[in-house]
Amino acid sequence: MNDPRQYVVIGGGLAGLAAAVWLAEAGKQVTLLERRGRLGGRTHAMKVDAADDLPDNGQHVIASGYDHLFRYLTSVGTREYVRFPQRATLRWPDGRSVTMATKGPAALRTFFGAHPDASLIERVRAGIATVRLGWQCLHQPADLADLTTEQWFHRIGMPAKAREALWDWLALGVAAEPVQQESAKVLADVLATGIRLGIKHRRPATIGYPTTDLDTLYVTGAQRVFERYGVTVRHRAVARRIHIADGRVTGVALADGSIVPADAVVCAVPNSNVGGLLDELPEHAELYAAADKLGYTPIVSTNLYLDRPLGTAAEFEALIGGTGVIDEVFDRQKMTGRSTDRAWLYCLTTSGAYEQIHKSNEEIVTEQMALLRRYYPAAEEAKVLQGHVVRMPKATFSQVVGTHGLRPDQRTSVPTLVLAGDWTATDWSATMESAVQSAARAVDLLLALPSVP
Ligand SMILES: Cc1cc2nc3c(=O)[nH]c(=O)nc-3n(C[C@H](O)[C@H](O)[C@H](O)COP(=O)(O)OP(=O)(O)OC[C@H]3O[C@@H](n4cnc5c(N)ncnc54)[C@H](O)[C@@H]3O)c2cc1C
Repeated sequence: MNDPRQYVVIGGGLAGLAAAVWLAEAGKQVTLLERRGRLGGRTHAMKVDAADDLPDNGQHVIASGYDHLFRYLTSVGTREYVRFPQRATLRWPDGRSVTMATKGPAALRTFFGAHPDASLIERVRAGIATVRLGWQCLHQPADLADLTTEQWFHRIGMPAKAREALWDWLALGVAAEPVQQESAKVLADVLATGIRLGIKHRRPATIGYPTTDLDTLYVTGAQRVFERYGVTVRHRAVARRIHIADGRVTGVALADGSIVPADAVVCAVPNSNVGGLLDELPEHAELYAAADKLGYTPIVSTNLYLDRPLGTAAEFEALIGGTGVIDEVFDRQKMTGRSTDRAWLYCLTTSGAYEQIHKSNEEIVTEQMALLRRYYPAAEEAKVLQGHVVRMPKATFSQVVGTHGLRPDQRTSVPTLVLAGDWTATDWSATMESAVQSAARAVDLLLALPSVP
C-alpha cells in the first residue's frame, strides 16, 4: 500500500540529499527544502568567471572506508568518478619527497617513519609507537577524551620525525584542528573505524579523490533521482520552525510565513543553523547547547591558475613543515584531466586556518605562492594568472578537547522527527561520510515507523 505521509527533508547538503534520495527510493513522498539557490551544501562546484573555470569550493578527499558515501554514489550513479591512487606523496621544503604506501611491504616503511632523515632507532621507535597507537585505538584508555592528540602522541612515545612526516598531518586531516587542540579521542575513533573496516573488507585504508567537479559527483545524479521519483525540491526555502503537536510533526514553517505540511521530518542542517528549528522539541535546550559548544573550525582553499606546471609527482601532495597547519596541494590536471590550454590549476587547502582566514585575498595568494616556491623549483618563475580564494569560516564543527559526547543521536523524543548532518553522532569525524552515515541512520528510523492504518 502506498504511504500517504509527507516526508520533508530540511537542508540540501550531502546529508539531506542522501536522506531525500533514500526516502524516494523507498517509495516515500519527499519535499526537500534548501535555503540557498543551489544544492550540495559544503560540497559544491563554483564558477570562477575570470578563469572561465569550475573548481570546487574546497578539495574533498574520500577514504576507502566511506561505505555510506559509496552507497550514495551508487544510488545517484556517479561511483565511477572516485579514484584511489596507489601512493601519496609527502614533500619537504628542500625539494625532497617521500612516497607513502598503505599496501604491501612499502606500507611498513611508512609506519616505521616516512621521514627521510629518520635514524634506524627513530624508525624502530615509530614502529613500536604505531603498534601502541593501533592497540589504544581499539582498547581506548579511559582518559583519552581529556587528552589532546599531541599529549597522546607524547604518551605513546611517537618520535618527533614520525609525527612530522605522518601523524600530525593525518590527525589534522581527520579533525581539521591542530594536534595541540584536537581531542585524541576523535583521531582514535576514526582510526578504530578504519582498522575495523579494513579487517571487514580485507583491504588497507587508502585516500581517494574525485575525478570530476563536486556538483557532478554529488548533485546532478541526485537531481536525476529526484526527477525519477517525483521529489519536490524547493530552493530558497528557509525553514524556521518544525511544528510538533501531540508528539508528532505537523509541518515546517518557512521564513516567508508559509507552512509546508509534514508527517515526518529529517532536519539535516549544520550545528550552526539549527537554532530555532527545534524549539517545539522537548529536549531543544540540550540540543542547542551541544550545537553551540561544538562550534566550528575554518578552512581556506586557494585556487592558483599558473602559467606552467609545478612538477608534482602525484594528484595530491602534503607539504611537510609548511605554514604549521595542514597544507595540501591538489593538481587538478592530474585529478580531472582538465585542459591546460589556458592555465594549470593547483588548489591548496589549509585546515585549521585560524590565522589565514583573517587575511586579504591578495595576502593569501602571495603567501601560498611563496609556499609553493619553497617546495617546487618550477614555481620559482611561475606567474599567477588568476588567484581565487574560498574562505569557509564554519567549514566543520570543531573537535577539540571537551567536545566528546556532545554530538546528538539522530533519534529524538518525537519519533517522526530525526536529525542528520555531519555533526550528529556517527562513527566518523566531521566528514562527508559522517553526513551520509547520519542520513542512512535517520532514514532507517523513519522507515521503521509503523505504517499508517
Ligand atoms: C573546504 C572543506 C573541505 C572539506 N574536506 C573534506 C574532505 O576532504 N573529506 C571529507 O570527508 N569531508 C570534508 N569536508 C567536510 C564535508 O564537506 C562536510 O562534513 C559535509 O559536506 C557536511 O554535509 P552536511 O549535509 O552535514 O552539511 P551541509 O553540507 O552544510 O548541508 C546543510 C545544508 O542545509 C542548508 N540549510 C541550513 N539551514 C537551513 C534552513 N534553515 N532551511 C533550509 N536549508 C538550510 C544549507 O544551506 C546547506 O545546503 C570539508 C569541508 C569543507 C568546507
